[in-house]
Amino acid sequence: MLRLNDIIEIVKSYHPQADLDLIHKAYVYSAKVHAGQVRQSGEPYLSHPLEVAKILAELKLDEASICTGLLHDTIEDTLASAEEIKQLFGNDIAYLVEGVTKLSQIKFQSSEEKLAENFRKMLVAMSRDIRVLLVKLADRLHNMRTLQYMKPEKQEAIALETMEIYAPLANRLGIGWLKIELEDLSFKYLKPLDFKDLREKIGKTKRDRTKFIDEVSYEIRHALSSSDMIDFDVSGRPKHLWSIYRKMVDKSLSFEDIHDLIAFRVLVGTIGQCYEALGHIHAMWRPIPGRFKDYIAMPKPNGYRSLHTTLIGPRGERVEIQIRTRDMHEVAEKGIAAHWKYKEEGGVPILVSDVADKGFLWLRQLMDWQRDLKDPNEFLDSVKVDLFAEEVYIFTPRGDVIELPRGATPVDFAFAIHSNVGTHCLSAKVNNRMVTLRHLLENGDTCEIVTQKNQQPKKAWLAFVKTSRARTKIRAILRQVEREKSLEIGRELLEKEFRRYGTTLQKWTKSPEIEIFFKQHKYRTLDETLIAIGYGKLDTKAVIEGILPDEARIAPQAEAKKSRLSQLFDQVARRSNTGIKLEGIEDVLVHYAKCCSPVKGDPVIGFITRGRGLTIHRRNCPKIMELDSERRINVSWDTNSTLLRPISIRVITDDRGGMLSEISTVFTKMNINISEANCKTFGDGQAINTFKCSVADLDQLKKVIKMLEAIKGVHSVERARSKE
Ligand code: MN
Repeated sequence: MLRLNDIIEIVKSYHPQADLDLIHKAYVYSAKVHAGQVRQSGEPYLSHPLEVAKILAELKLDEASICTGLLHDTIEDTLASAEEIKQLFGNDIAYLVEGVTKLSQIKFQSSEEKLAENFRKMLVAMSRDIRVLLVKLADRLHNMRTLQYMKPEKQEAIALETMEIYAPLANRLGIGWLKIELEDLSFKYLKPLDFKDLREKIGKTKRDRTKFIDEVSYEIRHALSSSDMIDFDVSGRPKHLWSIYRKMVDKSLSFEDIHDLIAFRVLVGTIGQCYEALGHIHAMWRPIPGRFKDYIAMPKPNGYRSLHTTLIGPRGERVEIQIRTRDMHEVAEKGIAAHWKYKEEGGVPILVSDVADKGFLWLRQLMDWQRDLKDPNEFLDSVKVDLFAEEVYIFTPRGDVIELPRGATPVDFAFAIHSNVGTHCLSAKVNNRMVTLRHLLENGDTCEIVTQKNQQPKKAWLAFVKTSRARTKIRAILRQVEREKSLEIGRELLEKEFRRYGTTLQKWTKSPEIEIFFKQHKYRTLDETLIAIGYGKLDTKAVIEGILPDEARIAPQAEAKKSRLSQLFDQVARRSNTGIKLEGIEDVLVHYAKCCSPVKGDPVIGFITRGRGLTIHRRNCPKIMELDSERRINVSWDTNSTLLRPISIRVITDDRGGMLSEISTVFTKMNINISEANCKTFGDGQAINTFKCSVADLDQLKKVIKMLEAIKGVHSVERARSKE
């Protein structure tokens, strides 16, 4: 078992003035409260907090973090209390231990909603003190290293959680080695057969690979030293298993087809030397276009800086090389932990981070966006996307760089600049060329957004936006628009219902009756009530009954019979026969457009009119283009309805006797009544016959057209458009 001294030695090596007594005290306390407990492996429980503390020491963290490592399981698994830890070790350590304890209670759930909720809490906890997360990551790493002692079903769940949550977090914090180890350990338990297979294959080719590494390293060294470079280190090592496996799966390659198993690394002293070394290497071997990446000029959001290039090497194989300074390498390996510095404050050295704010930018952004979210599942989508996507860097016309996930579009870019830019985004130019809003942005593109004041987000945008920020904002605005539409529809319906009783809504708006109604119902204001009506959650009749006294409700009903309005309301009342179903909306006044005269089965679309309810057009009706697209809503046919719809059929025939009777026989056979027939001849032997009739649905219409076409002497049959 690891000894405390092993840890103390590491701490002294980077932090000579550390409060070693405090660490010792934490160790003694942990040993006392965990006494008698045993891990699944059979080892004393204390071995686990010791290992965790060692990982934290390797990350060069402060003594509070090391103590937290030693104490992290005491509150959860022993009789120790938070209060006791506060008394013994102070507020700082007690806060951290409690933070880790809270994180440990968060378990990866199969139910996505729960996961999202928990994840959110976790993020909140993390952003308060990064050390909580670092201790949790160290804890997870040791648990993964000893996962073989757990039951198989637990192994898989823990490995999945590690792969989905903790490895990406390690990556976000820029701790390269930790991410790699967590991924490979998870891989081992998630895909045991593939893992074993790949490890064996790599083992078999080891000799060949060592030779290859030596050969390539030698050539790089030779090229650099013959160009008078002195200060450099060259090394090569196999990439980690999970990254090789991912590549095989993503690109459907077999192991034999993967040629860049090795990552070569050149470490130098200064940034200038990075580019110098790159130049010499590019002069020696041919670089592969599109594979050079300059993460020095544009660091990754987790702080990673390096030059990446891929070349055709001495054996004609791909050689991948990373070039960076030793400082950059330190950051690449230790991430956020590499930025911890010890500063003297009042004679006491304390640990501060110079990138704490930078490193947390993404977390803070996530939390900002989270505020707009209602549905936890939306949040989960958002977080997953943001954690896993790679970044692209896009320039604004002014030359600022905006970081976006790969696959981002001009709409994402617009929302990243400012909500208002996104909201009113009309069109986009990329590198001075007009592009569609769904255009995929690529690294280094310059993007310019054209806005227009009354432009609003479209539902279709949700299908292609990539960032959670854009998605969240678009959803929020769409919801608002939907609310306004429902309010309008609701007002329309309720006003009509009032008029039906010979009064107006306005007369009752300030009445005591309506106040009482609001007090008794869950809809507390007129707007809320109208929205509920518009959404179809509330019946207008219930509102009328709640507000109008009995006398007012009976009397005028009889008088209203003959008016045009009452006819319209009858149509509403027989809503099962309006033929149209609206998502979430019932009881809407429905009209069918005369221009295109839709029948059941036609693809249709609805337009909210002012004061006349909903007008239904066929989707291919040219008139749609003239109508305000903001007032458009999706509708579908009510399959249960048996509504007959009037249409016109135009039949061009030979001008001969008996034609009309043959045609009318078809209509009779199909059980269709002709309400009007109009026949014209033009003296050229042809006749145009227009029939007005009512059909039940598109199938019936198609059938009758087919039968008419089959009549000898019929040239064409078509559904006529009205000229109105
Ligand atoms: Mn633990």
